[in-house]
Amino acid sequence: MNTNTRSDHPTGTLDLRGASGGGIFDYDPAPESVKVKIDDSYGLFIDGQFSGASGSSFATVNPSNEETLSMIGSADGSDIDRAVAAARAALPGWSGLPGIVRGKYLYRIARRIQERARELAVLETMDGGKPIKESRDVDVPLAAAHFFYHAGWADKLEYAFPGKKPEPVGVCGQIIPWNFPLLMAAWKIAPALACGNTVVLKPAETTSLTALRLAEICQEVGLPKGVVNVVTGAGETGSALVNHPDVNKIAFTGSTAVGKIIAKATAATNKRLTLELGGKSPNIIFEDASIDQAIEGVIGGIYFNQGHVCCAGSRVFVQESILDTVTQKLNDRLASLRVGDPLDKNTDLGAINSSEQLGTINKYLDIGGNEGAVRHDPNPSSVPEKGYWCKPCFFTGVQPSHTIAREEIFGPVLAVMSFRTPDEAISRANNTPYGLAAGVWTDKGSKIFDMASKLDAGVVWLNTYNQFDPTSPFGGYKESGFGREGGRHGLAAYLK
Ligand code: NAD
Repeated sequence: MNTNTRSDHPTGTLDLRGASGGGIFDYDPAPESVKVKIDDSYGLFIDGQFSGASGSSFATVNPSNEETLSMIGSADGSDIDRAVAAARAALPGWSGLPGIVRGKYLYRIARRIQERARELAVLETMDGGKPIKESRDVDVPLAAAHFFYHAGWADKLEYAFPGKKPEPVGVCGQIIPWNFPLLMAAWKIAPALACGNTVVLKPAETTSLTALRLAEICQEVGLPKGVVNVVTGAGETGSALVNHPDVNKIAFTGSTAVGKIIAKATAATNKRLTLELGGKSPNIIFEDASIDQAIEGVIGGIYFNQGHVCCAGSRVFVQESILDTVTQKLNDRLASLRVGDPLDKNTDLGAINSSEQLGTINKYLDIGGNEGAVRHDPNPSSVPEKGYWCKPCFFTGVQPSHTIAREEIFGPVLAVMSFRTPDEAISRANNTPYGLAAGVWTDKGSKIFDMASKLDAGVVWLNTYNQFDPTSPFGGYKESGFGREGGRHGLAAYLK
């Protein structure tokens, strides 16, 4: 019951303060109440068992309050040897199972993710800093959907590739980033398993907890031992996996810089490779667009998950005639976003994932100002003293040569630029080494198709942004990587 409304108030007087002491239009605090059990320390998941790592361990920290959540084992070369050996030993049995049986295991994993959804969402938010409404409504349901979707493919691979006899690639080393920890694990594991491969997965060092919970789920559903192995650690652990001679395929999602190192390390080996890398994606707003709808799309496209999104629409190109209107509306909407406790259901932007990432974002904010762009900081939220916080902002007066228009920031920072003609919009949008995603906002169908066919981007969203579905292939052009995840195209990466 909302006790702040006039009709609810027994005396008829109007209490203008919320329970938090704020005004009538403030929300009361609504922290997620599910309690999640987190062990003091976690080992590696190898051959169906959790065991200690040979290397030292490191802390995983809640970025919204800087408290240590748990200690995580750091896998060294000998642990990678054990994990790869377990995956190799499990391969004949797993790939030899009828597809329909492999599919049943995937269905079970999907169901178990659904059953443990609240716990997974809370854990993801505590470990990574993203708002609970995103872990709850985006990450976890999409992770389950990915397993459901690939469960359906497991016994239909011949139909996916008619006239071929698809065979698994073998042991897959999979390395993922910290921005969608559970979802990226699902994107990697589900297609690999559906196609009969076995995997060694390495989560990012700041967000290991949900990948380890997924390992627990594999154990719960009775997945044959060694089919999924989870090794935790930082870059050296990933490098040991990449360079292991008995790995048949590397699937990497992360920065372009590390992607290039991996491409070099796997060149001249017989390892297969797919790379899902960074981006500097454009959102293009034409004067005939529904402006309010476009503003919502732009806001969701960059500030969603604090800008920790590979396909974030971090550059917006606005047709000159509506530049002032769009800038004003962006300003107003940004002012209404709520930044703070990620476990609060009303929070729009949570905490930045780590102090290192906050440092990177702040560096770009300084560069933006020093190079002459104008920073707009309309958000009034007061953020907690502890934790890593960056309020959403945008820059105008941005030139194509400015660093903030060229480099991936991976934070809640938007560069606003203008254009006059569709051709100019295309050439400016494509003027980037990246090519992951793009958005076009217009009322004209012909313009939509013309733009979509000319933009160098793996995904082009039209009058929407950041929509994901397991049936739809996702991946990049140019320095955003190669290979696709999701859909029939995603299966091809895991089959010979
Ligand atoms: P990162 O490249 O620093 O790390 C990614 C993973 O690689 C981590 O698990 C890390 O431990 C590991 N790693 C680091 N050095 C390694 C090495 N030398 N060899 C092997 N593994 C190594 O990236 P990040 O900061 O965790 O993630 C952010 C980046 O990921 C952004 O650039 C973002 O655009 C990109 N990303 C891309 C997609 C996509 O689908 N294209 C999706 C999510 C994130």
